[in-house]
Amino acid sequence: MGFFDDLKATAKTEMDGVKKSVKAAQLQSELNDLKREETEAYAAIGRQAVSEAGVQKFGDAGAKLLEIQEKITAKEAEISEVKGLEAELICPNCKTPYTEGAKFCGNCGAKLSE
Ligand SMILES: [Zn+2]
Repeated sequence: MGFFDDLKATAKTEMDGVKKSVKAAQLQSELNDLKREETEAYAAIGRQAVSEAGVQKFGDAGAKLLEIQEKITAKEAEISEVKGLEAELICPNCKTPYTEGAKFCGNCGAKLSE
């Protein structure tokens, strides 16, 4: 094999390597999608099982679920509390929200109470 044949062979080997890693990445991504679908299918089965049998039937896993659900409820309450505070800061004249400390409405110029 001559010099140029060697170059071609090297280039071809590198190209094959690139194709392989692209293909591997593609397959890995497809595998990840399938695993996510599997997790979602397990979750659907879990929801059905919990609604039929009750969460108490599932021991530690059930207790963990309840703990997480309590945290979700608390977090949702926290979010509506924060949103409620934001909602108070609305111009009484034109209903445009304003930031705390503003003296006049940026939209209609109405004087804002402190
Ligand atoms: Zn206004």
